[in-house]
Amino acid sequence: MAINSKIEWTEATWNPVTGCSQCSEGCRNCYAKTMAKRLQAMRNPRYRSGFAVTLHEDLIGLPKRWKAPKTIFVNSMSDLFHEKVPLTFIQRVFETMANCPQHRFQVLTKRNDRLRKLAAELPWPDNVWMGVSVENARVLHRVDDLRTVPAAVRFLSCEPLLGSLAGINLADIHWVIAGGESGLKSRPMDPAWPLQLRDDCEAMDVPFFFKQWGGVNKKAAGRILDGMTYSGMPENGVSEEGQDSPDATGARSNDRSAQQPEDFLEENEVLALDGLELREQCTGGTAAKEPCRVPDCRQLLVLSIDMLITLEWR
Ligand code: SF4
Repeated sequence: MAINSKIEWTEATWNPVTGCSQCSEGCRNCYAKTMAKRLQAMRNPRYRSGFAVTLHEDLIGLPKRWKAPKTIFVNSMSDLFHEKVPLTFIQRVFETMANCPQHRFQVLTKRNDRLRKLAAELPWPDNVWMGVSVENARVLHRVDDLRTVPAAVRFLSCEPLLGSLAGINLADIHWVIAGGESGLKSRPMDPAWPLQLRDDCEAMDVPFFFKQWGGVNKKAAGRILDGMTYSGMPENGVSEEGQDSPDATGARSNDRSAQQPEDFLEENEVLALDGLELREQCTGGTAAKEPCRVPDCRQLLVLSIDMLITLEWR
């Protein structure tokens, strides 16, 4: 199975763990759970156990096979710091990241407590960005735990934004992503909430990325906030062997319009492959509506929620 990421702030996904369990309000309409159930129904071998936590030993080294530098979202279908993922497994995932300086890895968790406790036992190379989800004021303590982690880039994913985060402390935070919930059961986002976050980010010179308003038709709702597109990104996090110049000071940009999502999604390229060889010329990528035409590459677009899912028939 392969997954091409359509998440607006990343390029590729890598899922050495799949499955999770719901632990907070932000999990109520978890897209990974919906996706896992569908993939199980489609008899995808990686999702035989549905949404139960499953370790995929054979995928731990996968990014080493990807030559072109990528920004990779780690575990879009799980939470790496879930209590059922052993420390030794997490350490091996971090070793892979440390051994792939050409890539930039984004790890996101709601298990801030476990993250804080295990941080000292993990390597923290510059190309690993560590984030926590912050959906409402009840989980603001996650930001404090994240601050204790020695990652080159510490970021917040405030999505789905379910309440005001007024009073949030953004000291030592390098990036904030915000967005409303999407889908049929989506909960509404008061425009005052992302506006407050934007203002807090500007006051602290923290890059701000407004991903979406969400709702039932998230495409139509778009991502314009207060008349602007906010696509702020941190500028550091990858070593000299990688794609960008290193910047240990955590230099940051808050460009409101220059960087559209399309700027960091490459057309006609397989952006992430879970368990498959990378086919740089694959035409079954993000924009394709038909199977790939490259000989022996039989990827087929089958469904879409937040990501395009492709199946390999072998
Ligand atoms: S932590 Fe993430 S993957 Fe796990 S249930 Fe919650 S939303 Fe889903």
